[in-house]
Amino acid sequence: MTESLRREFLARGLRNVSERVAKAAECAGRDPDLITTVVVTKTWPASDLRLLHELGVRDFGENRHQEGVEKAAELADLDLTWHFIGQIQSNKANKISRYADVVHSVDSVPVAQRLNAGAHHREKVVDCFVQVDLGPEGLVQGRGGVVPAEIDEVAHTIDTAGRLRLGGVMGVVPLGADPASSYRRLAEVSRRLLETHRGATAISAGMSADVEEAIVAGATHVRVGSAVLGERPPLG
Ligand SMILES: *Cc1c(COP(=O)(O)O)cnc(C)c1O
Repeated sequence: MTESLRREFLARGLRNVSERVAKAAECAGRDPDLITTVVVTKTWPASDLRLLHELGVRDFGENRHQEGVEKAAELADLDLTWHFIGQIQSNKANKISRYADVVHSVDSVPVAQRLNAGAHHREKVVDCFVQVDLGPEGLVQGRGGVVPAEIDEVAHTIDTAGRLRLGGVMGVVPLGADPASSYRRLAEVSRRLLETHRGATAISAGMSADVEEAIVAGATHVRVGSAVLGERPPLG
């Protein structure tokens, strides 16, 4: 695809997503300007991110450390906000917080501690969301996240770490589960967390397939990949 065709494709995808966000916000009686769309660019080349930047995108999501760190270096001339949204191996955490501005997928105390260690190497504090396991109690989902009983401990670690700021919660719908009810549970977890951490207002929820359900449930951040960039090439 030529660059100008790719730009048109991306522009159309962005328009479509922003219309969906606006319509869902209207249905929910919410202000669409208070919803951040993170464009998930995993597997796509830096050239796409440059086009998206020209089209006005500033918030980019990546889910693998190696790819994220390379793109952040390659695009260091642009003023971008990097969101790390993937599962974090704890031995990578202190590298991720050197370039990621927002980490959506904090899922343990050691990960939070290591993110904090890495964040000492930069000026800005790193916004952190606690990833909540939305699977049925006692079932291992493999999509990551902290079980509800342990959320307070991870949140407290972030809150008191020094170089991290507790932004809120994040969730991924378990395979086969209903997005609307999963996101309602996430919103309930968010309300409980807000009782003890008044600044933890963010709810990161919603992907290409279920932006509407997430916004109706209160999402402040939606993470949208394929609806903007197209179907990802299969991972090799
Ligand atoms: C890939 C990914 C997304 C975006 O998924 P799409 O279906 O392409 O919109 C959102 N959140 C996480 C955690 C992801 O890994």
